[in-house]
Amino acid sequence: MVGDTKPKWAERSARVLADHKRSIVDAVVVGCCAVAAVAVGASYDVFEQLYEFVERYEEYELDELIIAAIVLAVASSAYSVRRVFDLRNQIRMRAAAEEESRRLARHDALTGLPNRRELHETFANCVQTCSHTGKNCALLVVDLDYFKAVNDLHGHSAGDEVLCEVAHQLQHIVKEPGIVARLGGDEFVVVSPVQPDSPEAESLARRIVHQLSKPLALAGTEAKVGASVGIALHPTNGDDLEELLRQADIAMYRAKSDGRGLYRFFDREMDEKLRMRIQIERELKTAIEKGEIVPYYQMLVDLKTGGPVGFEILARWDHPTRGVLLPDDFISIAEDTGLINDLTYSLLRRACREAATWSDDLHLSLNLAPEQITDSWLPQSILGILSESNFPAHRLEIEITETALVKKLDEVKAVLRSLHNMGIRIALDDFGTGYCGLYHLRELSVDRLKIDQSFVLGMASEPEQAIIVKAILSLGKSFGLECTAEGVNNPQIRNQLNELGCEIGQGHYFGRPQPADEVVRSLKKRVTKTKVA
Ligand code: C2E
Ligand code: CA
Ligand code: CA
Repeated sequence: MVGDTKPKWAERSARVLADHKRSIVDAVVVGCCAVAAVAVGASYDVFEQLYEFVERYEEYELDELIIAAIVLAVASSAYSVRRVFDLRNQIRMRAAAEEESRRLARHDALTGLPNRRELHETFANCVQTCSHTGKNCALLVVDLDYFKAVNDLHGHSAGDEVLCEVAHQLQHIVKEPGIVARLGGDEFVVVSPVQPDSPEAESLARRIVHQLSKPLALAGTEAKVGASVGIALHPTNGDDLEELLRQADIAMYRAKSDGRGLYRFFDREMDEKLRMRIQIERELKTAIEKGEIVPYYQMLVDLKTGGPVGFEILARWDHPTRGVLLPDDFISIAEDTGLINDLTYSLLRRACREAATWSDDLHLSLNLAPEQITDSWLPQSILGILSESNFPAHRLEIEITETALVKKLDEVKAVLRSLHNMGIRIALDDFGTGYCGLYHLRELSVDRLKIDQSFVLGMASEPEQAIIVKAILSLGKSFGLECTAEGVNNPQIRNQLNELGCEIGQGHYFGRPQPADEVVRSLKKRVTKTKVA
């Protein structure tokens, strides 16, 4: 904005300067004329002759006319002198305003810190100084972890206070000739000279993270924001400021995903992962359309009889060049890019078609992403797919994670109730790892708890894990819910679960996720085995 108005300012200033010059010329001309008039008058006795002339023609009131002319001349001289001073004042004020506007264009209006534009210049100077002194330049991107919560909880003026306080603290930590800048939002940049191969950048990042993890005092309250820091080094990681900022940003996001309140150095592997993510983002839409996202099925087994009761649908990407990709590589990307509905529905459509020929007492379990459970169109869409593939609703179970229950609980309740009314069963997945409380179990239409594999995998060797599994099973029983244990990967766990009264098991011991043709083969094998027995 300030940048836009600058040419107008400059234009106006140039005009004032020209006016000022002109008025000086006017004043000089008036002065010269006056001096010339006095000189001519003195050398030719003009005043005496004029006096006589006026006396002679007294009847024409010439004396009054001459006095008026003299007053006018004096007034216009005074005016031109005054105008010269006025214009000089205006020039001074405009120069100050221009200087201020130039400063604003290069500094952040809220914190007064240099902005991106100014950073470019100061960074170049810092790099030059470093090259003379044999130092490197560390560039740190500092992003606040919980800034949004401050805005939401305490309002925007508290948010502004936080940003100013953070700016102040960073300036206190970073010593000259280091630079602290604000790029916008809650993202700050620190540039600091460091000795090559020294831990200086690391200790600076550690100090920043530590200082910003302390509560900040605001007017009448306090806020805890915390910060994650990404570091890129000049010249190790590159020369160009924008490239270094991008790298430090990638490292900062790594610090966030590793748990926040941390610092990370940029490395090439991070860049590779990011490129991979961008590539997947680009390919995913067409992959869904082409049917490359396929259902794999993992058997769910009745722990008493050992027979299959159904299969969990697990997404796999049958990638034309990279082989079979696991859900961790693409499900979160599908969620972030709004493709998760298309992906889920295409998966369900195919699974219903493939499972239509299997025994009709086998059910299918479908995973849904948290935001899908608040979508009021979801029950209709699922119903449409079930009826077009002639798959009965009572053979479908959906799995939701506890994270889905954190937000918009009323919407979740409504969607689950509609699904339930259609005959679809609901399972709470990864139970025990999230936010689910007794309140949720009472209020929501849930039929099953899936005990998270992190508890089950260790129950044979760690007694505390077995205690947790036992507690979840008895919780399930008291709410009238069936329980499935995930992560059954050996016979001891299976027996232990059976003794504890767990109904269903799932895990590598019973079988890994497999494509439809292998499911058919293993089902046939089981039938033959039972017949032989
Ligand atoms: P999940 O729903 O908890 O699925 C179970 C995961 O545990 C599967 O991993 C399965 O292969 C793995 N697993 C099963 N038995 C064992 C065992 O005995 N030991 C060990 N170590 N692991 C076992 P997978 O297929 O990689 O899926 C990972 C996650 O991706 C799933 O966790 C689920 O949250 C998500 N996911 C998979 N398909 C979909 C989908 O279609 N939609 C959504 N929204 N999420 C999906
Ligand atoms: Ca699941
Ligand atoms: Ca699970």
